[in-house]
Amino acid sequence: MNLNNEPLETAAKALRSKTRFLVVGHVNPDGDCLGCVCALGIALQRLGKSVVAVSPDGVPETYQFLPLSESVVQSVADGTPFDVAIIVDCEGLDRTGPVEQSIRSCDFLIEIDHHPGGGRESSVCLVNPSAAATGEILLQLFKVAGIRIDGDIATCLLVAIVTDTGSFRFSNVQSSTFRTAAELVEAGASPSEIARNVYETRSYSSTKLLGLALSTIRTTADGRIAWASISQQQMAESSASGAETEGIVNYVRAVRGTEVGLLFREATNNATHVSLRSRDGLDISQVARLFGGGGHSMAAGCTVERPLTDAEGLVLDAVRKWMGF
Ligand code: AMP
Ligand code: MN
Ligand code: MN
Repeated sequence: MNLNNEPLETAAKALRSKTRFLVVGHVNPDGDCLGCVCALGIALQRLGKSVVAVSPDGVPETYQFLPLSESVVQSVADGTPFDVAIIVDCEGLDRTGPVEQSIRSCDFLIEIDHHPGGGRESSVCLVNPSAAATGEILLQLFKVAGIRIDGDIATCLLVAIVTDTGSFRFSNVQSSTFRTAAELVEAGASPSEIARNVYETRSYSSTKLLGLALSTIRTTADGRIAWASISQQQMAESSASGAETEGIVNYVRAVRGTEVGLLFREATNNATHVSLRSRDGLDISQVARLFGGGGHSMAAGCTVERPLTDAEGLVLDAVRKWMGF
């Protein structure tokens, strides 16, 4: 896991020399982007900088234990001046939703990301697709910038790594991932506290939703593709929030014999969010890209501007074709 030193040093210099920072994660946030937003917010505050930390869809309850999360806002007032915008885990500016314009009006953009398509529009590009989480790259940057990794920063970065590796279960895990995690634990992060907050504390609504979603599971006759769907009615029945669908798709992929697992989520505006997961190196992001989405080779997503049943048909057909049957 190595990034060229030059962009790291340019970014480190910007952290030290500039004053007003805008830090933004992606829509539909996960532990990696929120861990990075909070870690950067803490680090910049400690350097005495002015920082606005933004998560366009807020901070889901699960991640509200993260230090600094209470200061994360959902939007920035038009015209607020910044010297530097930093986007984390975004694979492009359009994943920042309504905050995109504020980022574009800033002259200096740092992109920190581990998605293969990230970094196209930045002044400084810290993109390394072999990193398990964006948090790993951020740790490298902090070291180059001489920022001390205290317990709070370590907690944020370990949350980023734990969540994006599915608790060290996914194929993005390498020996270096464990070394980084060990370093963060030595710096004060508590794996049991993180696990208790992220995995061992489930809301009633998300547990109910998990049951409703899993009861819809179907597979193709040969079992190679499995999918489940969440309708707006099920969202209402469980009183769950959109964020509480995180992780459900992993149950779908875990069905024995499944090569591709899909989760369809009906949105309110006749659109459908699709989570795509594969295994054994099958690059399912190719299918997500056909629908204007993106992501990693084995964990990708897209939004199809069609109602749930239509979207299911379209994406299933595309996956079938792509798998050669
Ligand atoms: P999800 O299935 O939402 O957990 O997302 C899996 C991966 O796909 C993440 O890396 C996301 O950043 C990416 N992703 C999800 N939805 C989209 C989208 N509409 N466009 C681009 N990338 C997406
Ligand atoms: Mn993410
Ligand atoms: Mn990530």
